[in-house]
This record gives sequence, structure tokens and C-alpha cells, in this order.
Amino acid sequence: MRFSVLLPCLCFSCLLCPSAILPAQNAQTGAGTNPKAAAPAQHPRHVRPIDAAAPLPTRYDMLRGAYGPFRANNDLLYYHLDIRVDPDQKTIGGKNTIRFRMLKDGTRIQLDLTDKLNIDKILWHDQPLKYERDTGAVFIDFPRTLKTGEVVTIEFYYSGHPPEVGRFGAFTFKKDAAGHTWINTACEGTGASIWWPDKDQWRDEVESMDISVAVPNGLTDVSNGHFVAKTDLGDGYTRWDWHVSYPINNYDVSLNIGDYVHWGEVHNGLHMDYYVLPEDLEKAKKQFAQAPGMIDAYTHFFGPYPFWRDGYKLIEAPYSGMEHQSAVTYGNLFENGYLGRDWTGVGISPKFDFIIIHESGHEWFGNSITAADPSDMWIHEGWTTYLESLYVEYRWGKADALKYLGGLKPKVINMRPIVAERGVNAETTEDQYFKGALMLNTLRSVVNNDAKWFALIHGLYQHFKYQNIMTGDMVSYFNQHTGMNLTPIFDQYLRHAAIPRLELLFGEAPNMVMYKWDADEDDFAMPVKVGTPGHWQTIHPTTKWQQIQSPLSKDDFQVDTDEYYIDVNKQ
Ligand SMILES: [Zn+2]
Repeated sequence: MRFSVLLPCLCFSCLLCPSAILPAQNAQTGAGTNPKAAAPAQHPRHVRPIDAAAPLPTRYDMLRGAYGPFRANNDLLYYHLDIRVDPDQKTIGGKNTIRFRMLKDGTRIQLDLTDKLNIDKILWHDQPLKYERDTGAVFIDFPRTLKTGEVVTIEFYYSGHPPEVGRFGAFTFKKDAAGHTWINTACEGTGASIWWPDKDQWRDEVESMDISVAVPNGLTDVSNGHFVAKTDLGDGYTRWDWHVSYPINNYDVSLNIGDYVHWGEVHNGLHMDYYVLPEDLEKAKKQFAQAPGMIDAYTHFFGPYPFWRDGYKLIEAPYSGMEHQSAVTYGNLFENGYLGRDWTGVGISPKFDFIIIHESGHEWFGNSITAADPSDMWIHEGWTTYLESLYVEYRWGKADALKYLGGLKPKVINMRPIVAERGVNAETTEDQYFKGALMLNTLRSVVNNDAKWFALIHGLYQHFKYQNIMTGDMVSYFNQHTGMNLTPIFDQYLRHAAIPRLELLFGEAPNMVMYKWDADEDDFAMPVKVGTPGHWQTIHPTTKWQQIQSPLSKDDFQVDTDEYYIDVNKQ
């Protein structure tokens, strides 16, 4: 997924926000006060902070983000996006055939298309429908009440020049190094309605989709799903038809138009196809040899590749990469690491191609299991970042995986909660990647039984595959299948800025160590390993002081911060 090297949330204004002040308030326990007085004191009651650093939603965001009555009254069934792309004019045009089932009686539905593109007409049974545009939303009115259960098919015709916006440009008309046309899409965050009309939200997905793209003869379009046919239209254009036979996120729908060469293989029955520019063919064949091993690793942990009928594709693109469903785009220089760098700085990244491993991991978490609102996007990014470490563990062992995860820690900011406000098209912080992965690794340590942990995450994937869910769904599954109450742990890591801090007090009495968690969740409780490496003992701190006997001095007494992502404060 869109993966940014910069950390856009690290702005100076963040330093002024209440959530940034909160950890400092927590930090005062014991410091500069009499520990004896501090020890039995009531833990101050923390209020879950509002994410004050989040930008105020615009009207556009409210209409994009809300699952309002004109979205909730229908259920998407099918799209056929059928367009022509003109590289010379830099225009697109055509129609999306949209089929949905009414869930309630109604006369109006909401679709979305940027106001930078023209609506040519919207037809129902060949009759034009009336509509109103409001920023990116399109409210469509029917001349009679559509009845609950009724299946409705409309044809939404549009045209124009799609604007280039967002980190990857959303829809770009470029030339490759040899001067050939190279047109690509990557619109996550910006939204698919920047280039095609759809119900642009995360909760509802079509069950299947056809994508037809007419391009000048000689060019190839690679889209999602499996290749159906190419047809010479006799007017200098060729139409490429692709069929997606699974539910698909709007932002995953993609075009890749270029002078592509293609090769493929069948790996344990899975069709794997590769599309690159001719000049990159040899290095791509070497680099893309990592793809079958990636499939093996994720299959081992979670089960078969989710979009089996559609096959897996890796397609060269002029940006770093994106998890377009069954059509992952790749622009990582055909080198290991991320854009030529040791991504986590601890010597593990150079062992594999970050984009192949990360973007393809999204096929399981992001594309198959999808968040129902962008507020909970850590379900895509936290999990997929964790999948990177599982890939490392599968290939090179747990020690390397822990080292890799440790390399994520300096990337975490801990300034804002990971889960954002629902229903306002919210953008979440980059902590969703690294802190999300570190939280999942911490949960593995809490479960403290690898066989159980791997059965748990395999079961979780199988339970939620092809569904659109929220954090609460996942937490319920964890609680139910571990028999533990992990809700305060999830809440602390996802819904607060600060991570839990283990407070340790030494010297109250000989060989005695007092301990408790300093956390925003009052009922936060999490076991943790302390002592010395190789001789860890598990303690069960809560937010109330407890004590253990230990012969270790303050300096020798350690906490297993490799397996638990926590702060430690020794006094
Ligand atoms: Zn991603």
C-alpha cells in the first residue's frame, strides 16, 4: 500500500496537542516524589484522548466518509468498468455499469465521482436519471420507489481528464525511458472516484467485476483479475478485458497501460504472471523469483492465496508499489530492501525485496480481509507489516524476525492514536504500520505459546477472509479464542498515543522489586517477562502496585523488550 518514507504526521503543531502532553503527565509517577507515597496512590483516571491532531474533515471528507442513508439503502453486486484511454489527449471516457440490491425502499442513492470529471449521462432502462453533484458525491434520483430486494442496474457515463493528485498521482500519463506511453493508477487514500464512478467507500464491495480498457494498438493494459480477451476495435484501438471473480476494494481497481512484456509460471497450481518493460526483463526475472517463495510463506501461516481463480500478477509501475488485488504493482528498482535501502536498518531488509513481500502480503490483509472504514486501516498495514516479520521468520528464523521487528521501533512516533475517527474519511498515522506490527508481536508473547499463536492467527484469517471488518470484530475473535480479555491491550496500543510503561521500583526492601503498568486504560493488564535473558520469569502487572523478590540489582534486572513493545521506567 501507499507507503511513505516521510512521516507526514510529525508536524510542529503535533507538539502542542493534548495527546502529546499525555505521556509527560503519566511520567510523573514517582519521579521527584516520595516513592512510598507514590506506591499506594490511586492511579489517576485517564480519559481516552480525542485525536486532536487529526485534521478537521472537509465537506468532501464527510460525504466520502459517511455511510449515509443513500449508501446504506443498497448493497453493491457488480461493476463493469468499460473505458477508453487516449494517451495523446490525456483523457478517459466510457461507462461503469453498476448493479446493486436495495436493502430498503428508496428513490435516491449516493455514488461518487470527482467534480473534475464530466458526467455525460446516467441511464436506467435506457432512460436518463436525474442527479445532483455535491463536491465528489453524486446523488442519483429514480422516478419511482425502488423496493427492498430489488436488483437495479444503471449505466454511468463519464469523461474527461483525470487530475493527478496524491503521492502516486492517482492516474498518471507518463512515458517510459524508451519513450513509450506508460499510464498507471494508484488511488488509495485519494479514492477511486478520482478516475471512475463508483460507491467510493470501504464497507461495501461488489461481488465481482469486469474491467474493459481500450488503448491504442500496440499497448497492453493489465488490470485486476484474469485475462479474458483482447479485441481489435478496428479504429486504431484494442480493448483488453479482465474479469475479477472475487469481491474487490474500489481503490484496488487498477489500470497499467504500457509496452509490457509478459511471462508466467504455475506454482503449486497457482497461475503467476509478470509484466515488465522490455528493458527490465532480465533483472525482473531474477528479482521476481522471490514471488513463489512469498506465496509459500504466507500460505504456510494463513492458508492459500486468496484470489486463486484470478491468479497472482506482479506488474512494473513508475512508483514504489501498491497492493492492487491480484495485480500487485512494483517499482522497487529490482533490488532488495526498499528503494535500495536497508529499510529497518538492522541488516535484515537487504535479504528480500520489500515491495514484493509487503504489497503481496496485502492480498491476505487489506484485500481479502478489509477494514470497513479507513479509520481502522491498521488491519491492512499493521498486519501486513507483521507479515513481513513472519516472512523473515519463515525464511531465516525467529531471531532474525525479532531483529527485524526491533528495527521498526525508531519509526514509531507515539503522538496520536492509530485508530482514527470513523465515518469522516480519516487518514490514520503511520504508526499503524510499525506500532501495529509491534503490538501483534507483543500479543504473541502474551499468548506465550507459538503453536497456539499460529493456530490463532490462521484461524482469524480464515474466519474473516473476504469480509470487511472493524477493530472490534478482531478483538472479539482474539478474546473468544484465547479465553483472555485482551481488549485493554488492543485499546491501549490502538486508541491511545502512548504505549504502556512498566514502572519498576527498587530498594523498598532488600531483594524486593515493585512493579505496575502506567497505562491510559485503567484495567490494563499484561504479563511480561523480566529477569535476565535465558532466565526470564513472567510477572502479571496490572495498574496497581505488586511486588516480587529478586536478587538482581536495579542495573541487572532486565525486561524482555524484544518480545514486548513497551517502555520501562526503573527507579
Ligand atoms: Zn501496505
